Amino acid sequence: MTSPPAGTGAHDEYLPYGRQCISDDDIDAVVEVLRSAWLTTGPMVEAFERAFSAACGASFGVAVNSGTAALHAAVHATGIGPGEEMIVPSMTFAATANSALYVGATPVFADVEADTLLLDPEDVARKVGSNTRAVMSVDYAGQPCDYDRLSGITRARGLRLVADSCHAVGATYGGRPVGTLADVTAFSFHPVKHLTTGEGGMALTADESLAAAMRVFRNHGITSDHRTREQQGSWFYEMVELGYNLRLTDFQCALGLSQLSKIGRWVAQRRALAALYDDRLAGSIDVVPLARRAGREHAYHLYVVRVIGEGRRDRLFRFLRERGIGVNVHYVPVHLHPYYRKRFGTGPGLCPMAEQAYSEILTLPLYPAMDEADVDRVVKLIAEWSTVAA
Ligand SMILES: *Cc1c(COP(=O)(O)O)cnc(C)c1O
Repeated sequence: MTSPPAGTGAHDEYLPYGRQCISDDDIDAVVEVLRSAWLTTGPMVEAFERAFSAACGASFGVAVNSGTAALHAAVHATGIGPGEEMIVPSMTFAATANSALYVGATPVFADVEADTLLLDPEDVARKVGSNTRAVMSVDYAGQPCDYDRLSGITRARGLRLVADSCHAVGATYGGRPVGTLADVTAFSFHPVKHLTTGEGGMALTADESLAAAMRVFRNHGITSDHRTREQQGSWFYEMVELGYNLRLTDFQCALGLSQLSKIGRWVAQRRALAALYDDRLAGSIDVVPLARRAGREHAYHLYVVRVIGEGRRDRLFRFLRERGIGVNVHYVPVHLHPYYRKRFGTGPGLCPMAEQAYSEILTLPLYPAMDEADVDRVVKLIAEWSTVAA
């Protein structure tokens, strides 16, 4: 276990469910770029793309200004559009499903496995129809989905598989890293995620044409960028399609690169803290960690438990929040959001496993600067609640 950085050692402070680790070398890396000639579309973008894609075993990386932008670019690159459907799990952040809407496609909600809350391949197979063009997996909490079965379905039917792996930097499936398991894999560098650029994201792929499509898309649909034109001594450029400005700045990429140098240690620390939670909660019958599958290395973006018993999750949530523990709930099933209900007529009954889980799940604090005493503080309060509130 690594010790927490200075200033976070007190064990009576508010514990958020997640937070970034920024140290002096990160700050120096950003400042150095701020003093350089290129604040955006400069050399740090490519350096970060190469380093992050190499770390995940992928051939190509396209850096963008959020995880949502990475999903948007990925979905755009698959070519899916109006009148076509993309299957998404309901137990996820809204951006997963929204990415289909951005390109005019329709998200179709599939349920999750009851014990892992990962996209259920059987329900995916049931929901594939004549208009289905893509499936988006979500490696919920940091555990990879069943990629053998998911890619079996997508390959057999000629569908694209896009992975929303915003939770799963450093996870593996059958020894293969997340980032190599789908046609395109999207990551987020929001401060609660494994590494941060403030806001930021990246899309990884082994397919050069998908990478090229995403590069054009992030730059207004224009086929060359500012630096390339300057290097070529040319002013000419052409916009060939409608894209967006989804670019990530060079100083953010410098932060990402600096953060990336610590990712191995951070993922190991997340796993060590998760193992401590597992150990301390092992005897509990009413606060139960989610299931893990063999052959998958979990990256632990989140440590999620189920609180068994009607209304008890809400009571434990309040109990812990009142005592400085920043527990949270991930997520409101997307098909229950008012926007989706109104636009698509979705609602209760569509994804029963996700709905049942939603009433029971609680995310406990987990981030690399935590230590064993922090875990013990959380678990002790849970035990105290269990005896008084049962
Ligand atoms: C964080 C997250 C996103 C969005 O990432 P941003 O960088 O905040 O845009 C999308 N999907 C999932 C599952 C996430 O956790």
